Amino acid sequence: MSDCIFCKIISGEIKAKIIREDSFTLSFLDLNPQAPTHVLIIPKKHIVSLASADEGDMEILGRLQLAAAETARLLKAEKAFRLVTNSGKGAGQSVDHLHYHLLAGRKLLWPPG
Ligand code: AMP
Repeated sequence: MSDCIFCKIISGEIKAKIIREDSFTLSFLDLNPQAPTHVLIIPKKHIVSLASADEGDMEILGRLQLAAAETARLLKAEKAFRLVTNSGKGAGQSVDHLHYHLLAGRKLLWPPG
């Protein structure tokens, strides 16, 4: 989508620190980290949010999970990390392109705020 900042990161129009990439997903550092390790994992396909994904997105949703686990391993965070997606403005979603936050490197409280 032309006015989506994450689509612009995928196309290279906006720079980001890429951690991992494959044909379907991109992992890059969050601009405003909330933990020592804070990476966003996104599909290259523009999907607005998890709530708007459908059965046709089944494969990409699986690939996102595996990309997140591989990203955690690359960053040596596989023993303790949190993967979270905010779906909808009320849940804190500020970018309308599906993304998972991978957080690690500090004590992660539960329940989250
Ligand atoms: P959310 O609030 O769940 O939609 O998360 C969006 C995340 O995108 C926030 O944590 C932002 O810090 C992050 N973000 C926004 N713009 C950029 C960017 N250009 N590069 C990296 N991270 C970004």
